Amino acid sequence: MKSRRHVIVVGAGIIGASVAWHLAEAGARVTVLDAQEPGGIATRVSWAWINASFGNPEPYFRLRRHAMQEWHRLAAAVPGVGLARTGSLFWGRPPAELEAFAAEHGAWGYGVRSVSRAEAAAIEPHLVSPPEMAVHVAEEGVVEPLVAAQAILAGAQHLGATVIAHRRVRSLICAGNRVTGVDTDSGLLQADEVVVAGGVGSSRILATADVSLPMRTSPGLVVATAPHPPTLNGLLITPTMELRQTTEGRFLAVGEIEDGQAEGRVDESASELFAAVKGMVDTGSTLAPGTHAVAYRSIPRDGFPAVGRTAGLLGLYAAVTHSGITLAPAIGQFAAEELLTGQRNPLLAPYGMGRFAAQDQSST
Ligand SMILES: Cc1cc2nc3c(=O)[nH]c(=O)nc-3n(C[C@H](O)[C@H](O)[C@H](O)COP(=O)(O)OP(=O)(O)OC[C@H]3O[C@@H](n4cnc5c(N)ncnc54)[C@H](O)[C@@H]3O)c2cc1C
Repeated sequence: MKSRRHVIVVGAGIIGASVAWHLAEAGARVTVLDAQEPGGIATRVSWAWINASFGNPEPYFRLRRHAMQEWHRLAAAVPGVGLARTGSLFWGRPPAELEAFAAEHGAWGYGVRSVSRAEAAAIEPHLVSPPEMAVHVAEEGVVEPLVAAQAILAGAQHLGATVIAHRRVRSLICAGNRVTGVDTDSGLLQADEVVVAGGVGSSRILATADVSLPMRTSPGLVVATAPHPPTLNGLLITPTMELRQTTEGRFLAVGEIEDGQAEGRVDESASELFAAVKGMVDTGSTLAPGTHAVAYRSIPRDGFPAVGRTAGLLGLYAAVTHSGITLAPAIGQFAAEELLTGQRNPLLAPYGMGRFAAQDQSST
């Protein structure tokens, strides 16, 4: 798959980074543009659990599982990605739902097993109060998302890609039924293809070529403690929070929060979440608070990835998704293949842009 097509990738988060790396690796001439410092917006604050876990229909499970496997390929090819296969302990649902999840996903070939309180305590010895029952998935893992995105971008640059920071794309340039480039805040850039991987900013960019991508956002409260000696072995998905320890030793907890909370209320919720972390893991009395923020997950309206060409418009490709940390290696790989060979991977079949055009027509 060798090509010298010039592709502009808009967005240098984990998705844009992976698309750029796979394109450059396949021989394309790649220019990545980002309005900010490369590394993304959602990517920077992500909890970054790499999983094909609870609640996914089988086709989406298959895509996610493929992506999990592709992380190993990407981590072997790109220095500094830092993939950690830590495993996860999940008890964020009632036991009957966990049993059903383990049975269903186990039948699909996922390495999930139910564990007793004693087994949970053996997996995570520092839990203050291990759950009665949980599920454990040894094959799940994590990357430090900003580190991984930056490593993949550096890998793309090593393969010849150009990464331009602080260059906002104002609009797509269209000539007839073809996108021929982008208009940026410092001039026009032409290309054979434009990939929109702008996360939450993608809808606005696509709308400049009359392409509709309805999105929704979901806020999460992210609390990071001060660094602490290694205590957790893997990822915890609990009824009240998602919790892991970063490579720096910080406990990183994500809890729910309603949109539009006043700053004082956010601070209060962050203090509660910090106290809950201390109540969940035995850290002695030394754990110190760190930072907190409300972070927004940007999600195509139906919850699934939006990846592919848009009907009737040549030269344009969208790569927008939630769970982008999990999915990045697969989306990058499949997007590059489709752009350079015209072959669309069957795992992407349900996730084309056409479904939004169809929804638009049915709602008018
Ligand atoms: C709290 C939280 C927890 C999460 N937990 C997980 C998890 O456990 N597992 C998981 O798989 N996923 C998780 N996610 C989701 C995951 O982080 C995102 O799906 C992923 O980071 C999206 O990457 P991206 O590259 O598409 O977007 P982003 O990281 O947002 O990057 C988009 C980039 O595009 C640039 N851009 C936008 N508009 C323009 C423009 N007009 N011109 C130029 N550049 C532009 C932005 O500056 C940005 O750098 C979580 C997200 C959040 C917020």
